[in-house]
Amino acid sequence: RCVAASASSPAAAAKATTEVPAQMKAWVYDAYGDASVLRLDGAAAVPAVGEDQVLVKVAAAALNPVDAKRRAGKFQATDSPLPTVPGYDMAGVVVKVGAQVKGFKEGDEVYGMISEKPLEGPKQSGSLAEYTAVEEKLLARKPTGLDFVQAASLPLAVQTANQGLERAGLGAGQSVLVLGGAGGVGSLTIQLAKQVYGASKVAATVSTPKLHLLKSIGADIAIDYTKENFEDLPEKYDVVIDAVGQGDKAVKVVKEGGSVVVLTGAVTPPGFRFVVTSNGSALEKLNPYLKSGKVKPVIDPKGPFPFSQVVEAFSYLETGRATGKVVISPI
Ligand code: NDP
Repeated sequence: RCVAASASSPAAAAKATTEVPAQMKAWVYDAYGDASVLRLDGAAAVPAVGEDQVLVKVAAAALNPVDAKRRAGKFQATDSPLPTVPGYDMAGVVVKVGAQVKGFKEGDEVYGMISEKPLEGPKQSGSLAEYTAVEEKLLARKPTGLDFVQAASLPLAVQTANQGLERAGLGAGQSVLVLGGAGGVGSLTIQLAKQVYGASKVAATVSTPKLHLLKSIGADIAIDYTKENFEDLPEKYDVVIDAVGQGDKAVKVVKEGGSVVVLTGAVTPPGFRFVVTSNGSALEKLNPYLKSGKVKPVIDPKGPFPFSQVVEAFSYLETGRATGKVVISPI
């Protein structure tokens, strides 16, 4: 078992001798399919640690729609070989460092998205496990003031939000419409647009029960999609971020010369799609906003799900109705 150095004991922290077992508990699938292909393996191999990697004792992990799409076999052509331990997002404690690692040491609390490119050769041994091995360049220090659940909820979604707004060229004083404002990506895109990019007007689509959530995270306009079609309203936006798959409608509400970022579904020009990449130093640049509470993690109130309930957590995520992030903790 892992014996983590205690923060309350400076001597122990200085030595930080951590025993790492050879085997661990991990969720695994041996074939592509629905959530029923997942099984809890009590004796999975703890991944080897490369020279540029650290081994993290995972405290919390988050699910993303890409985990479900990958599990369903949508990215088979570029996926890692089966069997797969799924999971991209995690927060935890460094228990071992590779020979070339400079920025982290044992005992550091970190968070990140463990594969640089989620669709191209993602790691076979993911974050839904007691341990995961990650390149140091993909990790950031856990922001002080955030617990492991909050930190684990962020990496893939907040980097998608940030890279989407960056690629769209959102500037201070501009307006943005977020399609899917209550989801993992949408709830962070609203906040980054306001707090980091200085947008003057942030609108988002949402269903009736979640209107109040959008206001609480700083949206200026919440459009109830069960009552109004956003594409029929007169307002046009400098930037539209589509986290729903409505690229055909999204292009109808962008100003001339504006940008439409389509995260999922068919792309209609001038809309464009990109796929998020993991970058620890870019994540680190967001830490001040997270520490200060200007940007707040949004955790689905049905969670966090305990590690034993990963199948239930996946099934819930796959309803498409999650609010903010579905987190697994403790692990
Ligand atoms: P979530 O599962 O968190 O999104 C669920 C949310 O979507 C719910 O809160 C739901 O709200 C909302 N929603 C569903 N239908 C609509 C609708 N018609 N209009 C408005 N809101 C709606 O997903 P993520 O935010 O994590 O991801 C969103 C999409 O983006 C996924 O398809 C994902 O794969 C993709 N993605 C792509 C990335 C890339 O790099 N290209 C990176 C990250 C995500 P309600 O209950 O109110 O309907």
